[in-house]
Amino acid sequence: MDEKVSAHGTPQGYTDGCRGKSECRNHRTKLMTCIEAHIRYQGDYAYRTAVNAGTATAAKETYKVAIAGSHTSKPRETESC
Ligand SMILES: [Zn+2]
Repeated sequence: MDEKVSAHGTPQGYTDGCRGKSECRNHRTKLMTCIEAHIRYQGDYAYRTAVNAGTATAAKETYKVAIAGSHTSKPRETESC
């Protein structure tokens, strides 16, 4: 089944058909699964930019750091109302 998937831990892997969390080769590793990459691609601008630029990796921590350093200086998701 893996033959269809060119690269795990990428949105392309999800597109190629890797849509099961436990089926992904990156499951149980420190790397993102294809699903996680797909979801991240939808909502994480920094990651999307990296993917489009061809510089994305499947490492999770890389993007947490990148996001924290780029445009998240103020926590906005706190609901105080
Ligand atoms: Zn995969």
